[in-house]
Amino acid sequence: MSANAMRIQTLIDQLEMERTLSDAELEELFAILAQAHKGPGAGKVQICADIPQAVCSEEEAILYAAARRVREQYYGKDVYLRGLIEFTNYCRNDCRYCGIRRSNKKAERYRLTKDQILDCCRQGYNLGFRTFVLQGGEDLSYTDAAICDIVSSIRALYPDCAITLSIGEKSRESYKAYKDAGADRYLLRQETSSPAHYRYLHPEELTIENRKRCLSDLKELGYQVGCGIMVGSPGQTLANVIEDLRYMQDFGPHMIGVGPFIPHKDTPFKDEAPGTLTDTLHLLAVIRLMIPGVLLPATTALGTIHPVGRELGLLAGANVIMPNLSPVNVRGKYLLYDGKICTGDEAASCRHCMDLRIARAGYQTAMVRGDCAGFAVND
Ligand code: SAH
Repeated sequence: MSANAMRIQTLIDQLEMERTLSDAELEELFAILAQAHKGPGAGKVQICADIPQAVCSEEEAILYAAARRVREQYYGKDVYLRGLIEFTNYCRNDCRYCGIRRSNKKAERYRLTKDQILDCCRQGYNLGFRTFVLQGGEDLSYTDAAICDIVSSIRALYPDCAITLSIGEKSRESYKAYKDAGADRYLLRQETSSPAHYRYLHPEELTIENRKRCLSDLKELGYQVGCGIMVGSPGQTLANVIEDLRYMQDFGPHMIGVGPFIPHKDTPFKDEAPGTLTDTLHLLAVIRLMIPGVLLPATTALGTIHPVGRELGLLAGANVIMPNLSPVNVRGKYLLYDGKICTGDEAASCRHCMDLRIARAGYQTAMVRGDCAGFAVND
């Protein structure tokens, strides 16, 4: 074993046992991993026989093996699927990274009706999905009453399914109303915990304080909550990422969405470099070790920057995949970033493709609600 591999082994053992490292140690860990990925030992270890691209350095192999070990302690070999319904791309916000920001005049806008949303759920249910994620821009034409009506209809039709919302920043009262209507989970990435970095990524009206207020309200109201960040967003430093790890460990989310930033051609960040596959995989694995029972998706963005990005995500400790259930005729319009995959596929073929990908990585699809380990669901 090389000196670097031995050092990584020590740091990983400590991380696995104590769930934390000092800032200096985390910096050292990420630095050694990045160096190993580029160095002469890169590509030395094959970590999955059925995926030729699943090769990495000895140092990375140690990290990923630990992440998989911990993931299997909590979730075995199961991968949970979430049916993602992107129901509107209208948005009142102007986030500088996002393709559906309000000032992108080129975005072709659409909204789904309640019936169209219920149609997606019916299709998804028949394909075995037991979680529906309703995601959209912050579109005020869906009033709280309308959201509650949609949620309670899904709740009545599919009592055995989890309902997840991902519709941005709202008041505590709104979150409470959605919960009372039957919503179980809510996804709202903090995007970055650093106030200065947050300011750089977002318009004036959005503040990290309100975003964190939303996340705390959601948790207090009894939602299973997902937060998260983009990897390699413009201006992001390693110190920012470490601050996010600290924030997340302290907050205790049930899910953490982490995917690479990918530029969109009609945004202010169009010329910025995308986040890398390697940085994303390293971070996924470290999160698995620091917050072991958390639900960790291998995101669509990860699948977009690399043909087997999501499979590699599973091999780095991820345990959730969120295939698209949106009607095919609107999929190409929910473009948060360029090059998004699966925009032309029928839900059924996505579902089948996902099974094959998951199996190739050595895991199995579990068609259950897939709640966070240790979260008591009282229904
Ligand atoms: N309006 C909802 C849903 C946002 S879309 C909300 O505010 O939560 C879901 C996630 O996509 C965002 O949280 C963001 O992290 C990610 N995203 C947006 N633009 C992106 C880009 N250019 N590259 C990668 N991920 C992006």
